[in-house]
Amino acid sequence: MLAIKGYMSQQEVKNTPLMEQYFAIREQYPDMLLLFQVGDFYELFFDDAKKAAAFLAITLTKRGKNKGEDVPLCGIPVHALNHYLKKLINGGFSVALCNQLDKPQPGTVVKRGVTHIFTRGTLTDQQFLDEKSASYLLTCFPAVDRWALVFTELLTAQVFATTIPADSTVTLEAELARFFPDEVVLSAEHKQYAGFFKKQRYYVTVLEGDVAHGTHESTQWVQQQFSAKVQASLQSTPVLTHAVHTLYAYLAKYQAAALPNVKTIQFYAHDDFLMLDPATQRNLEIITNNQDDGRKNSLLSVLDCAKTAMGSRTIKKWLQRPLTAKQDILQRQDLVAGMVHGVSLQQELEHYLVQMPDLERVVGRISLQRATPSDYCALKKALLLVDALKQIVEPLVINDLGRALQDKLVTLPEIQQLLEASLNDDADVDYLIKPGFDLQLDYLRDLVTNSQQALIKLEQQEIARTGISSLKVRYNNISGYYIEITNTHAALIPADYQHQQTLVNRKRFVMQELKDLERDIMKAHQEINGLQNEVFDRIKQEVAQHLAALRQLAHALAYIDGLFGFARAAYEHQYVAPTFNDNGVLAINEGRHPVVEQRVGRGFVSNDTALDLATTLMIITGPNMGGKSTYLRQVPLMSIMAQCGSFVPAQAATLPIIDRIFTRIGSGDNVAEGKSTFLVEMEEAALICTQATARSLVILDEVGRGTSTFDGMALAQAIIEHIVTNVGAKCLFATHYHELTRLADQYEPIKNYHMVCAKKGQVLHFMHKLEPGVAQQSFGLDVARLARMPEHIVGRATDILHQLQGAPVSFILPAVIADKKGCACDATVTVAPYDVVIEQMRGIDIDNCTPRQALELLWTMKSLCKD
Ligand code: ATP
Repeated sequence: MLAIKGYMSQQEVKNTPLMEQYFAIREQYPDMLLLFQVGDFYELFFDDAKKAAAFLAITLTKRGKNKGEDVPLCGIPVHALNHYLKKLINGGFSVALCNQLDKPQPGTVVKRGVTHIFTRGTLTDQQFLDEKSASYLLTCFPAVDRWALVFTELLTAQVFATTIPADSTVTLEAELARFFPDEVVLSAEHKQYAGFFKKQRYYVTVLEGDVAHGTHESTQWVQQQFSAKVQASLQSTPVLTHAVHTLYAYLAKYQAAALPNVKTIQFYAHDDFLMLDPATQRNLEIITNNQDDGRKNSLLSVLDCAKTAMGSRTIKKWLQRPLTAKQDILQRQDLVAGMVHGVSLQQELEHYLVQMPDLERVVGRISLQRATPSDYCALKKALLLVDALKQIVEPLVINDLGRALQDKLVTLPEIQQLLEASLNDDADVDYLIKPGFDLQLDYLRDLVTNSQQALIKLEQQEIARTGISSLKVRYNNISGYYIEITNTHAALIPADYQHQQTLVNRKRFVMQELKDLERDIMKAHQEINGLQNEVFDRIKQEVAQHLAALRQLAHALAYIDGLFGFARAAYEHQYVAPTFNDNGVLAINEGRHPVVEQRVGRGFVSNDTALDLATTLMIITGPNMGGKSTYLRQVPLMSIMAQCGSFVPAQAATLPIIDRIFTRIGSGDNVAEGKSTFLVEMEEAALICTQATARSLVILDEVGRGTSTFDGMALAQAIIEHIVTNVGAKCLFATHYHELTRLADQYEPIKNYHMVCAKKGQVLHFMHKLEPGVAQQSFGLDVARLARMPEHIVGRATDILHQLQGAPVSFILPAVIADKKGCACDATVTVAPYDVVIEQMRGIDIDNCTPRQALELLWTMKSLCKD
C-alpha cells in the first residue's frame, strides 16, 4: 500500500498505464501536491484534487474508478499555471510540477517527470517573489541548551548562522524578526517545535529521517564547500553543524542546484546587530505601517530612494539589521557622505543605476539553472554599464569598503563580448542566437528561408499547371502544409492531388512534391531548435565559469545602490551625518521625525534631545495631540538610521552606539493567545525591565494606562525607578500622570519636559515644541471636542472634571449624588456662572431652535447670572 492517504496501491488494483505512471511519480513526493501534465492541463487526483479544488475554487470532477470508487480530479490549464501556482504557494502548499517530456505518440504513454519543485523557501522565479524583499530559508536545530539558526538566501547564496539560548523565546522571536524567513525547516526529531513557528505565522517543513546528524553525502558537501576556517567554526559548535546538515538535506531534496553555490557561512553573534524585536519594528513602523501593513509611511518608504530592486532589498536588510560596530557604520556613512556632497557623482550614479537590471536575482537564477534567455540579455545589459560605474565611484575609494566595492566592479570583457555577439535582444525577431554567431545555424536558417521561397515557387507552379488562380499553399499545426482549392474549381483538380479534408466551400489536398518540401522544412526547423539550444548551452557554460565574480559584482552593485538610496534621501530631506561617542551622550539638535515631517512638510517643529550619563530619563508631559508620541519615536528612528550608516533628520546629532531598542507603545490585546491588552502591556514592560542594558534605548509611551489609575501610576513609578537606578538605559517616558513628574526631584538622572500648548479663548494651539518643565494640563476635553464629541457629553465631562478637581459643581449634576464620604446630598449648588453660560451657548443649535426654546434658554442664562 502506498504511504499517501487516498491512493490505492498499484499491486492491488489494475490501473491504466497513465495512472500507473502517475502512482509511480506520486509516491516520490508524498508531502506535496503533484501537478501532472496531461496534454493542455495539469491534473490533480485523489486528495490533491479535493484540496486544490477547494482552495482554488475550481471544479472538482471525477475520472474513472479506483477500487470501485470514483477518482476525484481537478485540472489547471497549462497556460494559466503561474496564476494558480502563485495562489497555491502563497496558500502554504508545496508543489511538484510533473511535465510531459516527449511529444505524444499514438499508442504509447508519453514520458513524464518532475521538472520543478516549488516550496516557499526555494522560490526563484520573478513572478513568485516580492522584488523588494529578500527571501530566506531558516534551518533550525533546537538542542537542550542552545538553538542553532541558519538563514539562507538562495538567490545570493548568503548564509547567516548563529546560536541562541534554548530557553529564550524572546531572543528567538527577535532573531526571526531580523530575517522573516519564508520557510522554517526542522528535522523530524524536532517536529514538536513546528507549532511554535506556525503560531508566529511561519510556514514550516518537517524533514523525515535522521537528517540533522549528517550523512556521508552531507559531510562530504561540508568538506568540499567550506573553507577550513568555516569548518573549524562548525566543529566547535555542534548544534550549528546539525543545522547545516539539515540545510543540506533540504536543498538536496528540493533545490539541488543550490548546493554548489553555498560556499561560505557568516557566523554572527546576537549583538553584532542592533536588536529590534518584532514589537519594536511594528511600533516604530520601520518596514511597514500599522494601518494596512503596507510600506507607505514607514521608515523604509522614506529611506528607500534606491534605483534598482536589489538596492531596495539591500536597504531593507540594513534596516532590519542595523550595525553595532562603529568602524563598519562609519565606513558606510563616509561613502554616503561622498555621494551627498558630490552632487555630480550622485547624478551620474543615478543615470547608470536606473538602467541597471536586477543583477543580483539574474545571477541567482543563472547559478540555480533557472535563468531564461531574458536573464542572459539582462546580464549583457548590466555588464555594458559596469565600466562607466567603476569610473564614477572612483572618488568613493576613500576607505576599505569603498575600495572593496570598486574592486568587485569587474567588467568581464570576454563574457560581455560573448553575450553581445551571440544573444539577440530584439523583441521583434523570434530567434535567440544572432546571425553570424554560429555558421551551422546560419546555414540551417538559410535553408528554411530558401524553402519558404520554394513554397512560393510551388504555389505559382501549381496555379499555372491547374489554371486555378485562387489556389493557395497553406499551413496549420494539425495538418502541416496543404493546397486549398475552392469548390468552384473542383473540375480542375489534378489527379495526383490527394484529398485531405473537406470544408464548407473548399477542399484541402496534399501532393508528393509538397510532402517532400514539408519534410525538409520540418527537419531544418528541428535542427535549428536543437542547434540553437546547443549554442545557448555553450554560452551558459561559459558564463557559469564566472559565477563567483558575477556574484560579487551583483553584490557590489546592490550595495552601491543601497548607499545611493541613503544619500538621495539625505540630500532631498536635508539630513546630517551623525557622529558617535563612547561617553553615553545622546544629543540631538533640532531633530525631526523622518516620516511625519514628510506629511506635515515645512510646518514640522524640530526638537532637541539631551541625554548623557548624568541625565538618562526624560519624563514628557503635555496635551493630547501635543506631539509626545511623535517625539518619542523620532529619537529611536534616528538611532536606527545612524547605525545603518544613513544620515539623520536633524541639525546635528551625536549618538552612543545602542545595543537594543525597546518600545512600549500602546498595544492591542492578543485574544488569540488569551492575552488581554493590559497583560500584553505588562509583558512588554517586564521584558524591558529584565533585558535592557545601560546601552539600550527605551521608549515608554503611556505605561500603566490599561488598569486603574492608582495601579497604573504605581506600576509606572516603580518601572521608572527601576530603569533609572538598576538599568541606566536611556529612556523617554511620556505620560499623562502628572504626579510622576515629582520623581525628577528625587532622582538626579530624571528630567521633566513638556510639549508646549497654548489655549487662546476656546482655541487650543499645539506648538509641538519640547521645553523643560511640566505641562499644566492635558486638555483632553478640548481634544475630545476637536474630535467632534457631542457637545452635551463634553459639557458633562467638564462638570465632572471640575468636581474631581474640587471645583464648584455644575447645575446639571443629578439632583442626588454621593458625596466623597458616600452620603447622599443635594448637588444643586451655585456654580461659576460665566463658564456655565458659555457652555450653554456652545450647545445651542440655532438653526433648529424655536422662538420659544430661545426664550427659555435666555431665561435660564439670565437666572444663572442673577447672583
Ligand atoms: P496623545 O497624548 O493624544 O497620544 P501625542 O502628544 O502623543 O498625543 P502625537 O500623536 O505625537 O501627539 O501628535 C499628534 C499629531 O501632531 C501628529 O499626528 C502630527 O500630525 C502632529 N505633530 C506631532 N509632532 C509634531 C511636530 N513636531 N511638528 C508638527 N506637527 C507635529
